[in-house]
Amino acid sequence: MGNFVQMPKLGMTMTEGKIVRWLKREGDFIAKGDYIFEVETDKTTLEVDSLYEGVLLRWFYGEGDTVLCDTGIAYIGAAGEAVPEIAAAAGASGQAATPSVESVAPQPAVQPLQADGIAYDYDLAVIGGGPGGYVAAIRAAQLGAKIALIEKGTVGGTCLNRGCIPTKALYASAKQWTKVKHAADFGIRITGAELDFAAVMKRKDSIVKQLTGGVARLLKKNNVDVIYGTGILVKEHEISVGDKTVTCRYAMLATGGKPASILKNVEDDVPIYDTDKLMGLSVLPKTAIIVGGGIIGCEVGCILNAFGTKVTIVEMLPTILPMVDADVSALLADRMTSGGIDIRTSVTADAVKKSGGLYGVSLSDGSVLECELILEAVGRKVDDQAFEALGLKRSLKGFLIVDKLMRTSLDSVYAIGDITGISQLAHAASEQGVVAAERMFGGRTEADEPLIPACIFTDLEIAYVGQTEKQARDKGINPRVFKFPFSANGKALTLSETEGFVKVVCDDRFSEILGVHIIGPEASTMIHEAVAVMSLEGTAKLAGATVHAHPSLSEALMEAFLGCSKGAIHI
Ligand SMILES: Cc1cc2nc3c(=O)[nH]c(=O)nc-3n(C[C@H](O)[C@H](O)[C@H](O)COP(=O)(O)OP(=O)(O)OC[C@H]3O[C@@H](n4cnc5c(N)ncnc54)[C@H](O)[C@@H]3O)c2cc1C
Repeated sequence: MGNFVQMPKLGMTMTEGKIVRWLKREGDFIAKGDYIFEVETDKTTLEVDSLYEGVLLRWFYGEGDTVLCDTGIAYIGAAGEAVPEIAAAAGASGQAATPSVESVAPQPAVQPLQADGIAYDYDLAVIGGGPGGYVAAIRAAQLGAKIALIEKGTVGGTCLNRGCIPTKALYASAKQWTKVKHAADFGIRITGAELDFAAVMKRKDSIVKQLTGGVARLLKKNNVDVIYGTGILVKEHEISVGDKTVTCRYAMLATGGKPASILKNVEDDVPIYDTDKLMGLSVLPKTAIIVGGGIIGCEVGCILNAFGTKVTIVEMLPTILPMVDADVSALLADRMTSGGIDIRTSVTADAVKKSGGLYGVSLSDGSVLECELILEAVGRKVDDQAFEALGLKRSLKGFLIVDKLMRTSLDSVYAIGDITGISQLAHAASEQGVVAAERMFGGRTEADEPLIPACIFTDLEIAYVGQTEKQARDKGINPRVFKFPFSANGKALTLSETEGFVKVVCDDRFSEILGVHIIGPEASTMIHEAVAVMSLEGTAKLAGATVHAHPSLSEALMEAFLGCSKGAIHI
């Protein structure tokens, strides 16, 4: 019994491939690993090797044909064997039914957008100047549109003012302080080093100021009119800002979110910090309880811990960071615990009271913890002031429902960023802003689901893209998985940062990369190689065959790709 050769799936976005040319003829003997045809996708061209040995008995498709992934396109078997009909290919391979070439969906034609003949103040008014809104405004202006950006606070939004940037400035100070404390490991003796928390916060503020000033200048350079005030979309094409009315052909909602709160039974006068308030902290607390072991809770926990605060994290789920690969979250939990952070999982914080000069938090397991500062980091909720009256379609959690081109249920209203709930990351908001602007003013009709990497700035640093091992298994895939430890990487050793690993999850048949998970030094930089390879539909085999400079941390990524293909060398 022979085997059907299938159109491979080389990347997460690949749905079909074009057979550029056959490299073997019917009747040729094929050894495992022989290149048998060349495939072209919208991103790459690649010679595909055989998973099977035998005689190439039949091609079902010709050169130039476009065929859906997983479709049987040729048959390899024993000489003289009867070739099953192509319709049987799907059953034999266990894949979906074999489609015909004709069934590949045609692309919709570009439909130019028509102006509706009404004189509006602006082609587009964007409400919210975060990384979604300001990027969308600039892109739309680059496409020649007249743009207003309405912002109730400071341009840059949560990300620049209260989120990504200030926390990463604190993270950098925490890392620097840790390095100073471990300087002796590198043969450097430092005496009298002190942490000046006020200076740490001042540095953070000046970075924020520099970046938000830069965004304001970029908006000006692109002729975007920034209107400061609270914008309310009162009806289609009409936004009120204080006593002014702004009319616009399109409106874009990019109003982001605000910290959520779930703590109940909080005695009056007990200050509960959220991350917004934490950014204004003037005195480093000796003890802190962080309610929530998600990304923000863990990032802030690691920063405070590095500065010397005794931190306890209270998480209602069985693990911290439940969204990341299980191996990664387990290693981080170990590292945080051995670094002095007390992690309490599967418990809730049920009541908060004053307790002498401190605050007492009662947990669901009956214990009571005391601390100087309580931070609630339990996620964020939609800031819907700008559109709550409009009746736009929303999910049960309150997120605005949008299509792939970021259109809401009202034709002229687009929504991007955190309010869509698609991904609560700054770079995702920016990408959505670009897609929406190009839809409105660039004639764009299609948007692929982009690969969005995520980085978590904890000690150890984490970065990932694509599926976790569990997500792949839950989909019925039996993936090939390889973990390459930084302890086997020379550069990591020179940095004394040998904890962590690169984990690659890939498809067992075509070595399609399904997910890459890094925990360890420079994870947030290294992940982009994986994003680029996956976006261009490169396989683990190809990525592993790419020469990486020595000594570099990136060699660990190459070794993990090799481990998923022809075998890692250095382990
Ligand atoms: C502590 C913390 C750390 C984070 N770290 C990271 C990180 O490292 N990497 C990452 O990718 N993401 C991080 N995030 C998430 C990131 O900040 C958000 O995903 C991102 O800012 C969302 O962008 P946005 O444009 O949708 O909304 P926002 O950035 O929230 O911007 C919305 C803007 O709209 C304005 N606005 C709201 N309503 C109105 C109105 N009615 N009129 C006028 N203006 C209005 C607000 O003032 C705000 O400026 C972090 C978040 C937090 C809280």
